Amino acid sequence: LNGIVAVDGPSGTGKSTTARRLAGSLRAAYLDTGAMYRAVTSAVLRTGVSPEDPEEVARVVRNSRVVMRMDPELPGVLLDGDDVGDEIRGKAVTGAVSAVSAVSEVREMLVAEQRRLITAVTGSGGGVVVEGRDVGTVVVPEAGLKVYLTASSDARAQRRSTQDAAAGRASDPQRVHADVRRRDALDSNRQVAPLRMAEDAVLVDTTELDVEQVLGRLHELVEE
Ligand code: C5P
Repeated sequence: LNGIVAVDGPSGTGKSTTARRLAGSLRAAYLDTGAMYRAVTSAVLRTGVSPEDPEEVARVVRNSRVVMRMDPELPGVLLDGDDVGDEIRGKAVTGAVSAVSAVSEVREMLVAEQRRLITAVTGSGGGVVVEGRDVGTVVVPEAGLKVYLTASSDARAQRRSTQDAAAGRASDPQRVHADVRRRDALDSNRQVAPLRMAEDAVLVDTTELDVEQVLGRLHELVEE
């Protein structure tokens, strides 16, 4: 293992929880790339620019500053100095993030920043668990271990609504299901960096597994 673990897959596969806990138990840093796309989406919404206008979106993203906290015990994201940890999980950002993340200039900027953050950790001898959609295919194809998490769309929608309810957000199961499907379609069919599994990734289907079982499997893979 070269110190980089890439965890990719669609939403609701347990990606965030497993990636963060894996980082904690490996004493590695944790980078949530989805939080970066969400933070710049907050910037777009704050300025009132349409998420569907690629040039304006790119301009806003170029002028905003996203700072990631990579401690798995206390991960976080700052946008222009504000903690936007809660805001980025809300309905407005979730509704607009796929459009913003389909803008190629936005991806170029964020991928460059992700590589910089990863190199800063590995350059000083540390390890890092990076989660997202294109980590193993685009951001760090050289990752020592690439995992691709999947689960049935029912299981994923179920987990998303449980998470929303736990965080005190409205969680109409039908709406969550529709949203999961909508984002899957957008993320898989977009022109730039569509969601797909890297050829050398290990597929882990989490439909029938709880978090502890998924973590057990990932620890086995790390040790292989
Ligand atoms: O993982 P999360 O659900 O927070 O990601 C939010 C959105 O950000 C995804 O639906 C996708 O559109 C985008 N994303 C991406 N590439 C990544 C991570 C997230 O395009 N590496």
